[in-house]
Amino acid sequence: MLVGCCDSRAAPEIIFDAGPGEIFVMRNVANIIPHKSSQDHGIHGTTAAIEFAVNGLKVEHIVIMGHGRCGGVKAYLAEDSEPLSESDYIGQWSGQLEAADNPIRFKAMNRPELDHCGMLERTSIIHSLENLYSYRFVKDAVAAGTLSLHGAWFDISDGELEYYEEEKGTFIKV
Ligand SMILES: [Zn+2]
Repeated sequence: MLVGCCDSRAAPEIIFDAGPGEIFVMRNVANIIPHKSSQDHGIHGTTAAIEFAVNGLKVEHIVIMGHGRCGGVKAYLAEDSEPLSESDYIGQWSGQLEAADNPIRFKAMNRPELDHCGMLERTSIIHSLENLYSYRFVKDAVAAGTLSLHGAWFDISDGELEYYEEEKGTFIKV
């Protein structure tokens, strides 16, 4: 299974040169996995897709793939962005990035030479991987050795892919 962003420039099947039937893809704004604690109310497409992939299709891998110049991440960081409707669905959705931004915000604000957007695109992937563990069926499948979780970041400007090395806690170019 691949969890990607809606951005048409980060199309998983093209990046991985995959044909029909090869990857179960779920895309949402800024490739975010909500924490289970936020899922008690409402109807949830993202969680439903994960549940189906893990318990129905029994996928062996879930890759969360973020990408460069992500509009969802950029909109979260923009202080002057206006809601697109009175419901502000995107604002509520991308507000989930706050937890991933908290550890890096201070550093990014004090060092303007750093690419805050690029940093958040990556920490958000790590945060979403952690959120995947909040679902018991994911945790159980990982513990049983039937499922592994991965993070990746695609640079849309030069076509390079980075893989998240969990042991080192960093993204490495593939
Ligand atoms: Zn995006």
